[in-house]
Amino acid sequence: MTNDDIDWLRLQKALAVEAEKGFVDLVGKQYRFSEFLCLSFGKPPATLSVEERRRWQEMAMQFAEYHQMTQEERQSLVAAARRCLHLSQQVSEQQHLYALGDIEDKETRRQGGQGSNSSHQPPATSHSSDFPLSSTGVQMCAPTDSRIIQPKTSTLVSTKSSEINQRLAPSLEQPLTRLPEIGARRGEILAKLGLYTVRDVLLYYPRDHINYARQVKICDLEAGETATLVGTVKKCQCFTSPRNAKLSILEIVLKDNTGQIRINYFFAGGRYSHRGWQEQQKRKYPPGAVVAASGLVKESKYGLTLDKPALEVLAHPGDTIDSLTVGRVVPIYPLTEGVGADMVRKAVTTALPSLVHLKDPLPKALRDYYGFVEVREAIANIHFPADTDALELARRRLVFDEFFYLQLGLLQRQYKARQIANSAVLSPSGQLVEKFYQLLPFKLTGAQQRVINDILNDLKKSVPMNRLVQGDVGSGKTVVAVVAILAAIQSGYQGALMAPTEVLAEQHYRKLVGWFNLLHLPVELLTGSTPAAKRRQIHAQLETGELPLLVGTHALIQDKVIFQRLGLVVIDEQHRFGVGQRARLQQKGESPHVLTMTATPIPRTLALTLHGDLDVSQIDELPPGRQKIHTTVLSSKERSHAYELILREVAQGRQAYIVLPLVEESEKLDLKAAVDEFQKLQESIFPQFQVGLLHGRMSSADKDEVINLFRDNQTQILVSTTVIEVGVDVPNATVMLIENAERFGLSQLHQLRGRVGRGAAQSFCLLMGNPKNETARQRLKVLEESQDGFFIAEADMRFRGPGEVLGMRQAGLPDFTLASLIDDQAVLEIAREAAEKVMEKDPTLQRWSLMQAELTYRYQKLMGGTILT
Ligand code: ADP
Ligand code: MG
Repeated sequence: MTNDDIDWLRLQKALAVEAEKGFVDLVGKQYRFSEFLCLSFGKPPATLSVEERRRWQEMAMQFAEYHQMTQEERQSLVAAARRCLHLSQQVSEQQHLYALGDIEDKETRRQGGQGSNSSHQPPATSHSSDFPLSSTGVQMCAPTDSRIIQPKTSTLVSTKSSEINQRLAPSLEQPLTRLPEIGARRGEILAKLGLYTVRDVLLYYPRDHINYARQVKICDLEAGETATLVGTVKKCQCFTSPRNAKLSILEIVLKDNTGQIRINYFFAGGRYSHRGWQEQQKRKYPPGAVVAASGLVKESKYGLTLDKPALEVLAHPGDTIDSLTVGRVVPIYPLTEGVGADMVRKAVTTALPSLVHLKDPLPKALRDYYGFVEVREAIANIHFPADTDALELARRRLVFDEFFYLQLGLLQRQYKARQIANSAVLSPSGQLVEKFYQLLPFKLTGAQQRVINDILNDLKKSVPMNRLVQGDVGSGKTVVAVVAILAAIQSGYQGALMAPTEVLAEQHYRKLVGWFNLLHLPVELLTGSTPAAKRRQIHAQLETGELPLLVGTHALIQDKVIFQRLGLVVIDEQHRFGVGQRARLQQKGESPHVLTMTATPIPRTLALTLHGDLDVSQIDELPPGRQKIHTTVLSSKERSHAYELILREVAQGRQAYIVLPLVEESEKLDLKAAVDEFQKLQESIFPQFQVGLLHGRMSSADKDEVINLFRDNQTQILVSTTVIEVGVDVPNATVMLIENAERFGLSQLHQLRGRVGRGAAQSFCLLMGNPKNETARQRLKVLEESQDGFFIAEADMRFRGPGEVLGMRQAGLPDFTLASLIDDQAVLEIAREAAEKVMEKDPTLQRWSLMQAELTYRYQKLMGGTILT
């Protein structure tokens, strides 16, 4: 490691002479002044720190534009270059002085780490299997000490150089408009992207990168790929289009020893037809000049070409290419009207040196344990990585950060909720629960038993339970909820069970009445259609505590509903309620235990993201004896097969559902479509059977009537919009025909399919539709192959993305910049584990003040500030 490879003196001299001669871009023997400087700064000595090397690269870039600059701009650039050289040279010399000391430093540290129990030398890392966040590890956790976040091997050097850089580089809070490289005008334009300060720019991650690092020969170009080629200019013309005076064309023909290509640039606007401008363009690419060109290869009428490539004139063919766009992995930023890619890239390179001010909030021990790069390196490389490996490491670290702070926030919320220790302590074993087990005509599945144990364990504690039970349709969630409710009642508390629709609430009620009668317990149903007199009676009995359990819809959260002693709240299909509605039911007691249930399982990444503050239990086993539902995807040409099957089944005394999705934008048209279909089916297809119609615009009394007729087999075929998705339970129904199946999510289809297969007979599900493409068809095929709600949800997310899968639930989904809930599950699991470990050591984060500050900042950004409320 010597600094022989850079001729400091020659550089300083060139700068001095250029200044003396009045910034004319002197022509030397081999190069112009600007070319020489560009080349020299383009190859910073290896002894410099990352930040300084970046500063050099930036200098190189600016000298590449030297020929276009005004006198003043040239003057200030030359001055900046002299300053930069001066400081780098100092550092480089100091490095020689410190090299020895650095080695000694490492030696002593190694001895300390080997556990020679010298008391004055705290061990650098603990040797337990988890990452060392122990209280003895204070030195790793005190982020205010800047030495700690420097790489070990060059502690002294980096400290020195970053001291220098900290003086040089603008602060993170510096407004962009105050940076000379950006200025007021560009600063205002960047503000359109929400970029006001240096920090904003550093954290403005590219949404993608294009790899131009691949250098190819002209004969090897292939359309559709991005590539860099180096060739000599054979011809260069710049002219106004003969057909359009407002359009100017720059045409360059490049050749290498394998062929040639023609590259065209089009400039729209009168000012480009100016002769002087056109001549200037031509001068940039004189015949014989060596040019590197990077871009997307595409077909044109002259053969293959590059689409608006970035160009860089090189000194000679073997020269290294040093540019923001040519021959490297180029960042692609989200842009907006009037803000160009070059401007953002320039802003980023201007901001990068300020990374020296950024301290890593993650303790080094944690980073090392999971193999994450330091935050400065990550941010530098997410913008301008040297290669795809560096990019991948940077991305992994920053994705971790996004997940980690979210998990930390969720766990902190959970921690705070658990500080309230005044919930009802419920007795898990007692008369009622025992009696109920005896009443059950079946044996609980292993999964049910396990989940019941989870719940009863929670209820024993004075910390409020907050548990989500996920389980497929028919997995037996109701029984589980009843056990919890009975535990509350036998301990002298009341319970409330809320469902999203009247149909579902009534069904729960009917089931519960049966069991509660046998247990000699009263239970009531409260919905929007409960008559006023009945409602008053219920209100009164709740307030006196006479009524131990109330089942119902949103009607439960009205002000007049007052419980005497609410100990447990159960919410079915919890995702159909808003956060506010759930909270209002909870407020009817003094921090009651909360049990939420859902039959629409979501993939693990989504569950961690949305419900990271809940405990989650899964009923992943169906009661024995359930038949597999025979599922087939049909095109609408095969409609006759579907009708034949329905005919055959109904003729044998079975029943069938035909579900129509919402197709039109307007509810009126939808309704008309459903009514038309119903009439067609009744009159011309199945005149020999009774057909019923169920849709969302009916009053609940009418709905009840239709459902009751179907339940009693008065109607054999039920035509319905998706209102039957939850709550209709008719074991005699064996066919589910779903029209336009491609319009539904897989989980929703799975739910609909769950309406059949409830009895002993073989059931069928027919998914009819015209998927637009092969992917859409493959998606439906998942249902032919699987009956596992978790597997189906996972597949659905891969096909359609997390937002679509969540549907109305996506409101709670954070706005990740880099992280993908589809591809980054492994990093999410690590983030969860790390957050759990941090919480274990110090839930208040007092020990890690930087981390706490970052958490507050991130959480607000990620969740739009909503989740903390
Ligand atoms: P879901 O999870 O969809 O709410 P339910 O609780 O409605 O499912 O249960 C579906 C049906 O299965 C009900 O008729 C219920 O009585 C029955 N069931 C529940 N658990 C078992 C079991 N362990 N063995 C047999 N049948 C069961
Ligand atoms: Mg249920």
